[in-house]
Amino acid sequence: MTAATGTRPDRPAEVGSVFDAIVVGAGFAGMYMLHRLRGLGFSARVYEAGGGVGGTWYWNRYPGARCDVESMQYSFSFSEELDQEWNWSEKYAPQSEILSYANHVADRFDLRRHIVFDTRLTAATFDEVENCWRVETDRGDKVSAKFCIMAVGCLSAPNRPHFKGLEDFQGPIYHTGEWPHEGVDFTGLRVGVIGTGSSAIQSIPIIAQQASALTVFQRTATYSVPAWNEKLTPEYRQSIKADYPALRAKARARPTGFYFPFNMKSALEASPEEREKQYEEAWAKGGLPFLGSFGDLLFEKSANDTIADFARRKIRSIVKDPKTAELLCPDNIFGCKRLCVDTGYFETYNLPHVDLVNIRATPIDKITPEGIRTTDKDYPLDIIVFATGFDAMTGSLLKIDIAGRDGVKLQDTWSAGPVNYLGLQVPGFPNMFTITGPGSPSVLANVILAIEQHVEWLGDLLRHAQAQGITEIEAHATAQESWMAGVRDSADRTLYPRANSWYTGSNVPGKPRVFMPYIGGVGRYRQICEQMVADGYKGFRFEAKTAAAAE
Ligand code: FAD
Repeated sequence: MTAATGTRPDRPAEVGSVFDAIVVGAGFAGMYMLHRLRGLGFSARVYEAGGGVGGTWYWNRYPGARCDVESMQYSFSFSEELDQEWNWSEKYAPQSEILSYANHVADRFDLRRHIVFDTRLTAATFDEVENCWRVETDRGDKVSAKFCIMAVGCLSAPNRPHFKGLEDFQGPIYHTGEWPHEGVDFTGLRVGVIGTGSSAIQSIPIIAQQASALTVFQRTATYSVPAWNEKLTPEYRQSIKADYPALRAKARARPTGFYFPFNMKSALEASPEEREKQYEEAWAKGGLPFLGSFGDLLFEKSANDTIADFARRKIRSIVKDPKTAELLCPDNIFGCKRLCVDTGYFETYNLPHVDLVNIRATPIDKITPEGIRTTDKDYPLDIIVFATGFDAMTGSLLKIDIAGRDGVKLQDTWSAGPVNYLGLQVPGFPNMFTITGPGSPSVLANVILAIEQHVEWLGDLLRHAQAQGITEIEAHATAQESWMAGVRDSADRTLYPRANSWYTGSNVPGKPRVFMPYIGGVGRYRQICEQMVADGYKGFRFEAKTAAAAE
């Protein structure tokens, strides 16, 4: 596979340094965590595998990459000055602009001097004698810290399929999540895209504009709603900025972490005419809020059938060839795989040089030197694009060799799926925390707001620990048990676990099938965290060097 980054600059390994905290990852989570730690007067070191800040937006440079939560909300809210000074150019900003924003944040808050780039953390081991985390990197660094904070991202471990013959292909193969920084010119080339999730849906219309022939290999059809992306006018931006804190407050209270008008009415109680009108209006507005057309769509299968039917009719009305249209019509539950937002995705299949191959019916047998061979035929190609997504939520964590108390490995503790307390900490791994870990709302929400809530909660906890002389913080196993039961119960009240998706790990062969995020929403989750603090950090054990404290 063609590499995303160039050569790494040489530097000597760092051995023996001691920090208050190590942070892993310099996406939005790691950046804000660092900012908070510095505010507390903590010494901190951030390790980042990439050559710059921005995480998702550093790596995912494929054509068409952009956010699908509106930019005026998909951005940090912790600094009113930052909110006021930054001007988003489009409703859904492109990757390059979000990356510029991340770089602006790094410069504005002077973050870079504490971040070591081009360095991947490979191991983290809890030293029970010294009560610290000893970490190692792929550059030979060996340092330690009292606290180890994993800000490794929920969608940062690319899911690379292992097809036979991969090494034989004569052309380049790219993964959308590791896109070359210099870009890829598809002009006049025969391109094959494997996958039809969000990255594929964003990139396919643009690749089709350049390629001489585009073949899309689809296993599962995906629902997608038009973005109706547009340039933002200064007047519109000003109307938001005039009372940005109010919008942010509304977003924080919402299950989704971003604000949009939400119809709580039942789809089943509406008449067919009312439903149709509602869906048409929501479709005309576009984007993820389409899922908020009615209040019971994610709870009642028969309600969900009505929106699924509407979306399929839209696909049939856009795609001219009836056979292709049928193939593009998903047969799964609407919105329970990550809903996609597109610009001209379905329309692309009306182009004469774009073909769709159903690899559920005729699976890929192997990659050949000339292209892709399915069980049905050979497809000659010059470039292959893997739009195969990520080993979500646990992938990047489990790639690190993490050993907690008694040398127990996180890989073993999570062998049947991730478990923890509030998505924040795993018993047996004291003083280690996960930002937007599984078991928290994270990927079901505006992730930046979910990140902010975790970072602020953790900052407060560390301030408390500092003030009280607490040296060890560890979640109780009983707290984990009841939290995980709650995570399962809340998921089971919805239709989500019924669908195979990356939320359940179904896209990665051999991954335990567990619905990983907490579905109760960021608003409710925030209240739970606040109550837990008000109850004296209930569920956590605190230990001070001199005396045991808390619970
Ligand atoms: P990341 O941005 O993933 O950053 C984690 C960083 O950790 C990475 O840079 C990685 O290199 C580094 N890392 C991982 N392991 C190691 C290691 N062992 N050592 C050193 N460094 C390591 N969310 C939304 O809310 N709205 C959207 O519209 C949206 N659009 C998205 C579009 C795409 C294409 C993708 C992939 C995701 C999107 N997301 C969206 C989710 C997005 O991941 C989050 O919004 C957010 O950017 C996550 O920030 P993060 O810092 O938690 O993780």
